[in-house]
Amino acid sequence: MLLREVGYARPSSLAEAIQLLEENDGARALAGGQTLINVMKARAGSPDALIDLAGLDELQGIELGSDGTLEIGAMTTYSEIVASSEARARPILGEVCAQIADVQVRNRGTIGGNICTNDPTNHLPPLLAALGARMTIAGADGERTVDSADFFLGVYLTAVAQGEVLTKVTIPAGRQDGFAAVTLGVEGTCIASAAATVNGSVTLALGCVDAVPVVLTPASPGEDDVRAAVRNADLNPPSDVHASAAYRAHLSEVLAARAVKQAQEAS
Ligand SMILES: Cc1cc2nc3c(=O)[nH]c(=O)nc-3n(C[C@H](O)[C@H](O)[C@H](O)COP(=O)(O)OP(=O)(O)OC[C@H]3O[C@@H](n4cnc5c(N)ncnc54)[C@H](O)[C@@H]3O)c2cc1C
Repeated sequence: MLLREVGYARPSSLAEAIQLLEENDGARALAGGQTLINVMKARAGSPDALIDLAGLDELQGIELGSDGTLEIGAMTTYSEIVASSEARARPILGEVCAQIADVQVRNRGTIGGNICTNDPTNHLPPLLAALGARMTIAGADGERTVDSADFFLGVYLTAVAQGEVLTKVTIPAGRQDGFAAVTLGVEGTCIASAAATVNGSVTLALGCVDAVPVVLTPASPGEDDVRAAVRNADLNPPSDVHASAAYRAHLSEVLAARAVKQAQEAS
């Protein structure tokens, strides 16, 4: 047998999903399954029960507010974001989602699952950190909204506690964004990544160099200032078979400059 025996429930309301997760410490939310099922197959994790969020209307859909704010349901897939006319209000979202893995992963994987995993090599944590996204989390005691600095807590660790569900991601208006990454092959996860926005001041978020996205605010979008901000950040990236710490730090500087340049050229 490939998987250990596991319970399965498909709640029909958010309240029921929260109750099922709350009353069983060993239960885990199931979104697209593109990380969770692989983790289970590798026996790196073995939840007692999967609480499938696929039937919850509350977690679906992309809404564009009159002020340009986007509200994206946690169960929205990468492919839905790529195809959404509303999501084009912040074009970088679709551009980056289109770079994630292959069409199968994009058809199943969700924005919520991507950031709840908080794998530092994933594309979306640094992007959403740079864009100033806010995450709404629902639990038995109601709803709360946190920004990315309080959402991403460590590798595979976020502010979503056991018994809670991420319901939506809110992204403010803006168009001048950029993203650059060096990946493992064309469709692979990131070895180093950088996301930038120059809507107003410059915000930069680096991926793959720490447990959580490293957010920096260079003095200006000029290349010298951007590179200096990365150099002065005292990065201590991991070394592995794909890249040494020194090479990752170097890539971060180069990618940060590319991401800011793309953001400046965006209209
Ligand atoms: C071959 C392959 C290549 C990949 N390449 C990339 C890549 O290049 N870039 C990239 O970014 N990702 C990549 N991924 C990961 C992929 O994007 C996953 O889809 C993503 O990491 C998890 O999203 P999911 O919807 O599948 O979540 P799941 O796997 O279902 O869940 C992941 C975790 O998040 C929790 N969770 C999910 N949704 C919620 C919620 N709403 N509330 C609370 N907890 C929740 C689950 O309990 C679980 O712990 C790849 C995956 C595969 C299989």
